[in-house]
Amino acid sequence: AHLDHIAAVDTDLHAFLHVAADAALATADRVDARRAAGERLGLLAGVPIAIKDVLATRDMPSTAGSKILEGWIPPYDATVVKRLRDAHLIPLGKTNMDEFAMGSSTEHSAYGPTRNPWDQERIPGGSGGGSAAAVAAFEAPIALGSDTGGSIRQPAAVTGSVGVKPTYGGVSRYGAIALASSLDQVGPVSRTVYDAALLHDVIGGHDPLDSTSLTDPWPSMAAAARAGLADGALKGIRIGVVKELHGDGFQAGVKQRFTETLALLAAAGAEITEVSAPNFEYSVAAYYLILPAEASSNLARFDSVRFGLRENPTDGPVTIERVMAATRDAGFGPEVKRRIILGTYALSTGYYDAYYGSAQKVRTLIQRDFDAAFEKVDLLVSPSAPTTAFKFGEKLADPMAMYLNDITTIPANLAGIPGMSLPMGLAPEDGLPVGLQVMAPAKQDARLYTFGAAVE
Ligand code: GLN
Repeated sequence: AHLDHIAAVDTDLHAFLHVAADAALATADRVDARRAAGERLGLLAGVPIAIKDVLATRDMPSTAGSKILEGWIPPYDATVVKRLRDAHLIPLGKTNMDEFAMGSSTEHSAYGPTRNPWDQERIPGGSGGGSAAAVAAFEAPIALGSDTGGSIRQPAAVTGSVGVKPTYGGVSRYGAIALASSLDQVGPVSRTVYDAALLHDVIGGHDPLDSTSLTDPWPSMAAAARAGLADGALKGIRIGVVKELHGDGFQAGVKQRFTETLALLAAAGAEITEVSAPNFEYSVAAYYLILPAEASSNLARFDSVRFGLRENPTDGPVTIERVMAATRDAGFGPEVKRRIILGTYALSTGYYDAYYGSAQKVRTLIQRDFDAAFEKVDLLVSPSAPTTAFKFGEKLADPMAMYLNDITTIPANLAGIPGMSLPMGLAPEDGLPVGLQVMAPAKQDARLYTFGAAVE
């Protein structure tokens, strides 16, 4: 049914870069056969899933939305993909994304943008707009995304879906094509909080193949979500409203839904207080130094020799440097080039302390803001994004406008803490979905699921 629906709607939406119809049907038959033989499989066995193209899959191309990796089929599965297969989920295919996960709209995909199923003239968010649109349009019940500065939560918000960025180190990054290694996390996209929790339980937990993977035991996120369904689950929960993450610059309908949500939370017995995080105003600036610095280093591996595309120079001698330059010129899009140049500049001798060094200090201050806030409250809330889905082209020519859209989501990545976006209705002025972001202290992902299920 999902494959038929993809065939019917994806020519318009373009949520998928690759659909693995035959493999999906064969996997479904194998799951059926196991069940028929009396095997007891997990709760998500037989459930179809869409996979963001940033994740390595050994039977499907993995392009990360870039021409430089066109047609590349990795020789291995990302750990999260292996865990999906072990739990007998059914990969439907790979979803569209901004090239190397750089962007907030999927307009930076080398393969053309994804359309928002709510309004096809509008962006589905980014970088994981493909996964969010696939879930929102019922092409897949659940999906995997990756979140470096909001790429799970912001697409979830603008498509009316649920998206979770786990605690840094909670889900393996092995086989996730790296954007910024100290910020990247893989996580679930879904239509309900409980679905996200079930998927989180499948993909999460220690992985020896990822050196930053936490060794802590994790509670069941699904059990945490079920706890949220109990009467009075919100009673006495201390919720902090981050002063710096709503107000000026936020769309009127976003603010309205947020205010109403706070009133509903208070009516359900939550204690609402305002908390200030004075250093958040520098988070976008710090992020857009740290991310390009790490990205410029990570993307150095695309050297025309090890992966994908190789282009010879159109004239002059064919040296290794010139082949590398011609390949990168042809294979990388403008946003990727912009960030590589920013990153190498920020890391260069003489500028390192002023830019990268200062950004790292700001990162510590932001972490301290969170620590201070979480002394007073259990959870922090804000709108997931300052606006609803914007129109194609609206921010494309102005990188700063695109970057500022990430103001709400970036702090959680800089601090490594978990965050969730869940729907809080539609903005009255445009009828488009608005997301509520909730953040918890590091390793307290379960709290998000209890809260999310209670609110939903
Ligand atoms: N919009 C952010 C950026 O462009 C988010 C990236 C991400 O989370 N992958 O960097």
